[in-house]
Amino acid sequence: MPDSSYHAKYVFIVGGVMSGIGKGIVTVSVGRNLIERGYKIDVCKIDPYLNIDAGTMNPFEHGEVFVTEDGGELDVDFGHYQRFLQIDVKKNQNITTGQVYYEVITKERNGEYLGKTVQVVPHITDEIKRRIKEIDSQSKADVLLIEIGGTVGDIESQPFLEAIRQIMREREPSDTCLIMATYVPYPPHVNEPKTKPTQHAVRDLKSAGLNPSIIVTRSPKDIGKSALDKVAVYSGLSTDAVFSLPDLEEVLESPIVLDKQGFGKKVLFVLNLEPKKEATWDSLNKILELIKTQENEVNIGLTGKYTKLKDAYISVFEALKHAGIHLKTKVNVHYIDVEEFEKDSSKLSILEKYDGVILPGGFGKRGIEGKIKVIQYCRENNIPFLGICLGFQLASIEFARNVCGLKDAHSTEMDPNTRYPIVDLQPDQKNIHRLGGTMRLGAHEIEVFPNTMLWELYGQKEKIIERHRHRYELNPMYAPLLQDNGLVLSAKSKFYEALELPDHPFFLAVQFHPEFKSTPWNPSPPYYGLIDAALKKKKVKSN
Ligand code: GLN
Repeated sequence: MPDSSYHAKYVFIVGGVMSGIGKGIVTVSVGRNLIERGYKIDVCKIDPYLNIDAGTMNPFEHGEVFVTEDGGELDVDFGHYQRFLQIDVKKNQNITTGQVYYEVITKERNGEYLGKTVQVVPHITDEIKRRIKEIDSQSKADVLLIEIGGTVGDIESQPFLEAIRQIMREREPSDTCLIMATYVPYPPHVNEPKTKPTQHAVRDLKSAGLNPSIIVTRSPKDIGKSALDKVAVYSGLSTDAVFSLPDLEEVLESPIVLDKQGFGKKVLFVLNLEPKKEATWDSLNKILELIKTQENEVNIGLTGKYTKLKDAYISVFEALKHAGIHLKTKVNVHYIDVEEFEKDSSKLSILEKYDGVILPGGFGKRGIEGKIKVIQYCRENNIPFLGICLGFQLASIEFARNVCGLKDAHSTEMDPNTRYPIVDLQPDQKNIHRLGGTMRLGAHEIEVFPNTMLWELYGQKEKIIERHRHRYELNPMYAPLLQDNGLVLSAKSKFYEALELPDHPFFLAVQFHPEFKSTPWNPSPPYYGLIDAALKKKKVKSN
């Protein structure tokens, strides 16, 4: 008897050979292929690390922390899901080993196992299944995509693979589909695709008691039919169940590249579903067409501590790109090494080569004085500027120091004893000592003041909802002084949320993180404003 506590059909996505191959892209490609055929989908990701969530993880190592409406601090992949699939995920949709063990051990301490030996099977695997079912019933989706982080064969993934095995056994065969994304290298000295690592990965999967329904090979270039056939033979699949997804110039094209090989049809076939509508790909093609016909280009400077890792700022990069798509403009992002300016201010003139500058969120002391110099330069030299979160806080400090004359103005985050605490801990943060999940997080309603630039950017809306992740705030005691000196504070919730300068081409800083809601279809207004201003600046320069 199939278990009736399941609702949606499940597509599991596991990885083979190595991590970082774009398993997330395969997941969103499955999702878009289903959406395109009229199905409602939702997504869940399992991260086999012991952290409770990604909130305390270093973005340099692990990529950005993605913030949800309900204040979850999730794995970087959730940004891809939201942008690509336009779904709004909740924090419980990111399951980690840490959460699962925490729950089981807490129950054990409460005596809930009635003296039994608590074990990985069944107690850990049951808790994994319980969490998946919880997401299943809250989401009301037709199909739930479940991506398992890491790679098959990792010690950490074992309990999750066992849980999947049990779920597949408890359900009808057509209620689940297991997709393996594997890497096929193309070593330059042999110049042909090598499928051996994939064969080993399939063997690892089978030794966990699982058989793939579909394999997607990721590779630098298309691996060709004979390599695909080889993968099919070694994994016991028919040739129409193996697909090739090479690196693409435009990653948004992935679902279509796969579908041209029959991918969408195959997923539906495994799940025994009929398409509710024919796949036209109109909405995705419209975006791809806009990207292909871009007429302009702007260069944006991004100040950042984690200068080597695009993933640390991925939502910011994507939001800049989305704004560019709707302005027919290719956006090139360049890192600005702010520490250089701390030693030598004369180097600041290199900022002239940018059409705009963005200062994203961040924590800690490093590079702060350099960042403040960048803000001052942009303010005084009419360079379009957008500050996000820390960027908002530092823009108010810069203004207090250099316009209002409060020389040592600072944030108590960097200088707890500053004479002028322009930025200070939010009152309800003062007695918090634990780091995980304790910031002001998630969506809050913000009042936007009429006739400001921000209000124009948001289509003259007076109420907006944006996401947050911060402990400090603009100290309201100093607001009148800043305003008297010409700074416009253009939005407020419980705290000030935005500042702008009326006599500047574009100088805007916001306490919230609008990049978390940007999608290729709906660019974020502040980012749109920056690229629009950058484009205008460039046009004036070239005339
Ligand atoms: N460090 C600052 C704070 O905690 C800014 C945080 C951020 O930029 N996300 O308030």
